[in-house]
Amino acid sequence: MLIGVPAETLAGETRVAVTPETAKKLVAQGHGLRIQAGAGAAASAPDAAYAAAGAEITDAAGAFGCDLVLKVRRPSDAETALMRPGAALAGMLDPFDGAGLQRLAAAGLTAFALEAAPRTTRAQSMDVLSSQANIAGYKAVVLAANLYQRFFPMLMTAAGTVKAARVVVLGVGVAGLQAIATAKRLGAVIEASDVRPAAREQVESLGAKFIDVPYETDEEREAAQGTGGYARPMPAGWLARQQAEVAKRVAQADVVVTTALIPGRAAPVLVTEAMVQSMKPGSVIVDLAAGKKGPADSTGAPAGGNCPLTEAGRTVVRHGVTIVGETNLPALVAADASALYARNVLDFLKLVVGPGGGLKIDLDDDIVAACLVAHAGEVRRK
Ligand code: NAD
Repeated sequence: MLIGVPAETLAGETRVAVTPETAKKLVAQGHGLRIQAGAGAAASAPDAAYAAAGAEITDAAGAFGCDLVLKVRRPSDAETALMRPGAALAGMLDPFDGAGLQRLAAAGLTAFALEAAPRTTRAQSMDVLSSQANIAGYKAVVLAANLYQRFFPMLMTAAGTVKAARVVVLGVGVAGLQAIATAKRLGAVIEASDVRPAAREQVESLGAKFIDVPYETDEEREAAQGTGGYARPMPAGWLARQQAEVAKRVAQADVVVTTALIPGRAAPVLVTEAMVQSMKPGSVIVDLAAGKKGPADSTGAPAGGNCPLTEAGRTVVRHGVTIVGETNLPALVAADASALYARNVLDFLKLVVGPGGGLKIDLDDDIVAACLVAHAGEVRRK
């Protein structure tokens, strides 16, 4: 099969879907491989490395004009028009954006949205949400440490003692856990909250303290179990009690990292303006939910994010607190983010490339069925 890898054109996107490492493997599997010139440049993967791996360096039309196109982000309409009807596309295609998927279907593409893979053990090696969230959690803490004007670790020096930074992590999925682990490595004292009861053990195993908000009703217990490992919106009563507990911790925190998301919905507001006002001057909030609007609020007021003062794509200072609204943290760790993403893609291809090297679509495979979002002119998921 002829596989194409275009350069990403979305603003700020530095990642690439195939690295020289995975290029070599695709070529060894007998595929033809075209890489758009400069596609890996921002991820420290020069054209020469791809050429050495056996790929052909082409222009955008050459990269999009293949049987299978591998991308990080969904192509623009102009880029989609460069693809052949009947060709296949795999990437992070935004499976909750029905209109975007409709355009891919209308172009006659077979499209796989890799974010839609189930969170199962078998899907782990191709789980792009996990591989990228892990990087986001790490980079969030590194950015916070950079912006914070004090030390993270406790230091005893001849000039006196410096207290350890207090870090609060809200939302303890993949990104939150890595944020805790990274802050711990830097010597911070950490507290964390999540709606899912399973998060407690994970938080404690990393040496952080879980902010306990007991469930008081069957409705709360049931909602907290979530669906397929993901959170569901919690009843208002529990959220109010969580907010009271979180407010106490945030007032004492030096750094707050928020990562709370509910798939397909607006991110919950966990750090209110009053909480920001209660923080010490020089504190830092990194809001990983920045810009994550759910489809339900796409015409409404919420701007996305776990804090209403977050501005997507910007770092602002409000009430003396620095609030980071970076929307693509993995792109700030371009080389490793690409390396992990490219391995996820390579593993996914094992499911959709047949023994003869052509595309096969096995809808009895739960991963393939979940990721296939457009086929034969139809959107398969909204
Ligand atoms: P996510 O990015 O969808 O959300 C981040 C976190 O925010 C989640 O832990 C969620 O529970 C939490 N959250 C939502 N609303 C909240 C609120 N009001 N207050 C506090 N926290 C709130 O999550 P994710 O990182 O994609 O992980 C989702 C789940 O999938 C987790 O259970 C994770 O362990 C699981 N997972 C499983 C696998 C696997 O088995 N292969 C792989 C990756 C993740």
